[in-house]
Amino acid sequence: MLNTYTFAPKNSLIMVKILLSITSGIRFPVFILLITFLSCNRPVTMNGQSTEKEKAQNVIILIGDGMGLGQITGGMIANGMKTNLEKYPVVGLHKCHASDNLVTDSAAGATAFACGVKTYNGAIGVDPKYRAVQSILEEAKRKGLKTGLVATSTIVHATPASFFAHNVSRSNYEEIALELLDNEVDIFIGGGKKYFDRRADNRNLYNELRSLGFQITDYFTEDLDKVEITGKKFGYLTSDDSPLTVMQGRDYLLPATKKTLGFLTERSTKGFFLMIESSQIDWGGHSNNADYIVEEFKDFDKVIGAVLEFAKKDGNTLVVVTADHETGGFAINPGSRRDSLVTAFTTDYHTGSMIPVFAYGPGSDQFSSIYDNTAIYKKMRNALGW
Ligand code: MG
Ligand code: ZN
Repeated sequence: MLNTYTFAPKNSLIMVKILLSITSGIRFPVFILLITFLSCNRPVTMNGQSTEKEKAQNVIILIGDGMGLGQITGGMIANGMKTNLEKYPVVGLHKCHASDNLVTDSAAGATAFACGVKTYNGAIGVDPKYRAVQSILEEAKRKGLKTGLVATSTIVHATPASFFAHNVSRSNYEEIALELLDNEVDIFIGGGKKYFDRRADNRNLYNELRSLGFQITDYFTEDLDKVEITGKKFGYLTSDDSPLTVMQGRDYLLPATKKTLGFLTERSTKGFFLMIESSQIDWGGHSNNADYIVEEFKDFDKVIGAVLEFAKKDGNTLVVVTADHETGGFAINPGSRRDSLVTAFTTDYHTGSMIPVFAYGPGSDQFSSIYDNTAIYKKMRNALGW
């Protein structure tokens, strides 16, 4: 276990009181020595090893778009009353509002995580005055870490886009795709082939990315499983527009995660920053479709488990699992049974409820309690020692 547990503060106060009552006859230097000895407590991990203040070498943020407590609960019940989120030792809540609205969208939500600024709905990596703000992924790249993005939406969709692009509007997909030419993302896997090879400006981003050293391929050319990554940078497009749903047979999130972790581990010397998004829990909420939500959650849950396993083995990886917002006001209503949920929705848009955060690894202890969504950016940087 990587979390540090300090047993000092409460105990030492009690110690001082006890000592004061029993040491009236002892000379002052001895008293000081006793205090020093008894209150000498270095941070101790759960397996008993003392540790220095631990820094993370790698940070992985897992975003379940639209994944509030209702989605987690429904998914957990459908998953046999268990979720890999239970294995994360630290849980907190974030306040997800945007700068201009109590109910955020995914652009402002992801920009808060990526760039640490509260901004308006629709903003991609820019503040309320439309100024570009450096993202943690871009900073990671500049500091010599490797970087990756995996999503089950298009790779230019609001959540992944906020980590590498700066645009006044989330809907400028072709402009957002151009920012992958900035050499900040070392590996990306997601949908949206059409924004690369059939653009209004007739540019062919396959060719442009290849000239920058990318190995770039897609679902139409070869299966992701069969692709051997030989390039120093890698891009794989999983669909022409939006990827399929899990119910329609989409099953790449876990293999894409494993492939990406392999790529980043092999090629990084100073660590890596990785964002993985289960994009469509949100779309299940928008369509008020409980089965859609539950199946997408179960798919994400496998990744939540696999990434935790990776981090446990690695020992230097902070993992944060959260959502940008809740979608649908999704509730598990009376009459629900383990094998058949009775569900209800309050809206076909997002809601403003606070959102759970789960963390594991060096720096994870910062993630308990309640804080702003922008604090997640600061806590991840802090864990990296920045
Ligand atoms: Mg999203
Ligand atoms: Zn949404």
